[in-house]
Amino acid sequence: MNVADSERMLSLMKLEHYKWVNNPDDADLIILNTCHIREKAKHKVMSRLGVLKQLKTHKAVTIAVSGCVAQAEGKKLLEQSSAIDILLGPGKIQELPRLVAEFNATQKKQIAIGFAKKSDTLVVETEDEFPITPETLTGKNEVTRYVNIQQGCDNFCTFCVVPFTRGREISEKPASIIAQVAALVAGGAKEITLLGQNVNSYGSDLLESGVLVNTHDGPFVDLLRAVAQIEGLSRLRFTTSNPHDFTPALAKLFASEAKLGKYIHLPVQSGSDRILAAMKRKVTQEEYFERLAWLRTAVPDISISTDLIVGFPGETEEDFEQTYELVRKANYSFIFSFAYSPRKGTAAARFLEQVPNEVKFRRLAALNSLQDGISLVQVEAEYGQERSVLFHYKSKKEENVYYGKTEHFRLIKVPASRNLLGLELPVRVDGGNKTALTAQLI
Ligand code: SF4
Repeated sequence: MNVADSERMLSLMKLEHYKWVNNPDDADLIILNTCHIREKAKHKVMSRLGVLKQLKTHKAVTIAVSGCVAQAEGKKLLEQSSAIDILLGPGKIQELPRLVAEFNATQKKQIAIGFAKKSDTLVVETEDEFPITPETLTGKNEVTRYVNIQQGCDNFCTFCVVPFTRGREISEKPASIIAQVAALVAGGAKEITLLGQNVNSYGSDLLESGVLVNTHDGPFVDLLRAVAQIEGLSRLRFTTSNPHDFTPALAKLFASEAKLGKYIHLPVQSGSDRILAAMKRKVTQEEYFERLAWLRTAVPDISISTDLIVGFPGETEEDFEQTYELVRKANYSFIFSFAYSPRKGTAAARFLEQVPNEVKFRRLAALNSLQDGISLVQVEAEYGQERSVLFHYKSKKEENVYYGKTEHFRLIKVPASRNLLGLELPVRVDGGNKTALTAQLI
């Protein structure tokens, strides 16, 4: 989501005749677009600001901090670092050019934080006014691009800071999303990932306000079908799904819409119903496995990944054992596991039974080692298989080597003497490890 937001900022500043430079020493404006999801992310911002403060001693440069740290910390951040000239929350991106102009004219610090209201339209609706250029942050057309379909979240999972940094859930209108995807595909993109905090509830606000009417499969499945029809698009992905709002109709769509590929990320967070209730995830372990069954009925070899938090407040050895068992049973292709870190303002940060760090990290290591074993078996089963690969980038280290993703979302490395970028081609897997498979073009 931050990549998509950063590219939107780049596009807005390009309209003001700014251009991307590779070196901070050459910049007139530096924007740190920040993440607040874990404590470590904020520390990184502060340490980068320390370095940029030095730059300011010998060069006139405007420094903006945007994103969720700006939203969550607000004016306090200005007190913590004198290097900052502009603070910009993720709900106020459109205001960036105005803030930069004001700061340049007055040298007074500028702040724009806060959220759009449910009644606001997130972006302009016609393609002509569409503010994102097909160019990416590096100035090159890239094969894979992101499109935000939703801002914020209404769920308030007790560990999560997102509803406080990105506000309530607001859906972009389908016509606007289709126009954005069409523009990016016309600019060279082959794979689009639709982004939202909870894509499965996409459009519930639009139904409420009468912008959309209810249909058999619901607004998200309708949106995916419409976007998949865009000519020139090879693959359509989306993230993140919340199992609570996941529907059988979406699972079935994987069987009929080839552009969706054979991969989904479905975060579970814990295998213990007690902890899931404390997290306010609104699903039980049994309901979660029911959703996996829908998916595997639709596409038996679908690849599934998940997010897991270990050491959530109050997590006992028995709760952790249930998470461990869930990972063993679910046969994930990938897991993204984290030690719980308390986020200020969230309910879980105030829970009394915080788990000691050494326990969290022991559990995290056990879970990762379990998944390593599962991944190894899956990778070995790939040897000799024919896979369809969309090629994303050329190796910077090795001559004539290209990297892409299989329909199951596995990274794959293929030698080729011709340019494969943006092509989707069949390959035969001949080796690899949990990081990347290797293959030959067929
Ligand atoms: S659904 Fe996702 S974004 Fe929303 S509160 Fe829960 S974890 Fe955070």
